[in-house]
Amino acid sequence: MSDRHGSGPEVGPAAGSPRYVFITGGVVSSLGKGIASASLGALLTARGFKVRQRKLDPYLNVDPGTMSPYEHGEVFVTDDGAETDLDLGHYERFTGINAKRSDNVTTGRIYSEVIAKERRGEYLGKTIQVIPHVTDAIKEFIQADVADAEFILCEIGGTVGDIESLPFLEAIRQLGNELGPERACYVHLTLVPFVGAAGELKTKPTQHSVKELQSVGIRPDILLARCEREIGEDEIRKIGLFCNLRKERVIPALNVQTIYAAPRQYHEQGFDVEVLRHFGLPVEPGPAMAPWDDLVQRILQPRHGRVRIAIVGKYTELLDSYKSLQEALIHAGAFNEVRIELDWVNSEELDVPSPEADRLQEAQGILVPGGFGIRGTEGMINAVTYARERGVPYFGICFGMQMAVIEGARNVAGLPRADSSEFGPAVDPVVGLMTEWTRGNQVERRSEESDLGGTMRLGAYACALTPGSLVRDIYGADIISERHRHRYEVNIAYRERLEAAGYRFSGLSPDGVLPEIVERPDHRWFVGVQFHPELKSKPFDPHPLFGSFVAAAMKTSRIT
Ligand code: GLN
Repeated sequence: MSDRHGSGPEVGPAAGSPRYVFITGGVVSSLGKGIASASLGALLTARGFKVRQRKLDPYLNVDPGTMSPYEHGEVFVTDDGAETDLDLGHYERFTGINAKRSDNVTTGRIYSEVIAKERRGEYLGKTIQVIPHVTDAIKEFIQADVADAEFILCEIGGTVGDIESLPFLEAIRQLGNELGPERACYVHLTLVPFVGAAGELKTKPTQHSVKELQSVGIRPDILLARCEREIGEDEIRKIGLFCNLRKERVIPALNVQTIYAAPRQYHEQGFDVEVLRHFGLPVEPGPAMAPWDDLVQRILQPRHGRVRIAIVGKYTELLDSYKSLQEALIHAGAFNEVRIELDWVNSEELDVPSPEADRLQEAQGILVPGGFGIRGTEGMINAVTYARERGVPYFGICFGMQMAVIEGARNVAGLPRADSSEFGPAVDPVVGLMTEWTRGNQVERRSEESDLGGTMRLGAYACALTPGSLVRDIYGADIISERHRHRYEVNIAYRERLEAAGYRFSGLSPDGVLPEIVERPDHRWFVGVQFHPELKSKPFDPHPLFGSFVAAAMKTSRIT
């Protein structure tokens, strides 16, 4: 227990025995279960509790690392190098607490662990079954590595009623029974649709969803009802009646103008208070909401107008692929008190430079984000040329740094056949595959034959910044740590030729072998980074590179 709430048996379990809140979803997907979980995390954190947030994903991939961004959206990478669900990004941003590998698991991982154990003979000749072996492995995961957390918020991916989520629901049902209501609370998020023809809100889908949940033995303690419009007292009472809940436990979850307004909205509707009441915990003093209110104000009513940033990437049809990037830009906008207008440019549109390709004319800043594969790269390279030649602030992230280096090698350093070996054998592989990296005193080896899953350079690595460089000035530190997710590297063998062409290798791995940051000192703001700074940006701790990039863009006028 945190000091604010006292300690001792009357207020709860001993240290190392956290309370669990299980969050499920019903009716349809994409209702904002991740934001609901993250908001509860934010509110409990704002009340001084130590919170951990976890996500259980029912799909069979061992992790989302091998899924297409179109399938899954962004892969969120943790400091400890796990490729995880993008909801972990929301959790980190809403609580300020860094997620770990032990905070996300999939059916694929659970099964592969159970099967590996079976092969090692650890089940002593037993028949291995979903219940109890798979469910035990899930329960173990949920309860592992909780350290000093007071609350574990555990979100179950998917929708109740899916075949694949059944083992997870069974595991949390058993766990709730073992822990008792004093240590387990079930929250269920559903939809209350407005049917235009009838002119009314419909509670039936919610009733069915709760029935479905009850059929697997879980009775929700709190219901979150997503709805486009105000839910009247009558409907709330009706839902409560059918679902066996007091009306305070039916919490309307209305649309908000920015996700950062969700914690305040959930608090107003009593979400955190009902969770605390469920556990018999004091509800006063309330959460410290002033920082959230100030943040929302800065996002919705910025003082300095707007700034237009073009993002030139290839997954622009599914913006979830760039979730953390969008959020990092929002944080930078709030920090600079400016509204960020994002112009998503599909890089393939820029493959052929043409007057129409002056798609970028309105941009006050150009950003090329992470990406894989050759498709659309010529367009990205053209975007770099445009930014470099016209003095438009350029921010290259991971792939975007590699593109900036290829562009510079071809068009400035006189290496017209410069390329990345990601796209096949290259005459001048200015970006190539490293077969070895050092991390601490361990050597990690990678080769072209390695498995594709989990074999990239992943997670936090240190980077040393060059004194006097722009990035040294922006970070105000000599050594930084940033998260990586890539297989290819800028080839240090080309350093001299690129530096002679006006580039500065301003960030390197501490052993000096891996270029981490490249900038152009003669340009207003031209920075490429091999890591993903967007993964570490938080609303109350905006990333300095994004802050500085947006500030530079604000000083740049539109070309038209
Ligand atoms: N495809 C590049 C690589 O693997 C860049 C990856 C990225 O942008 N995350 O190195």
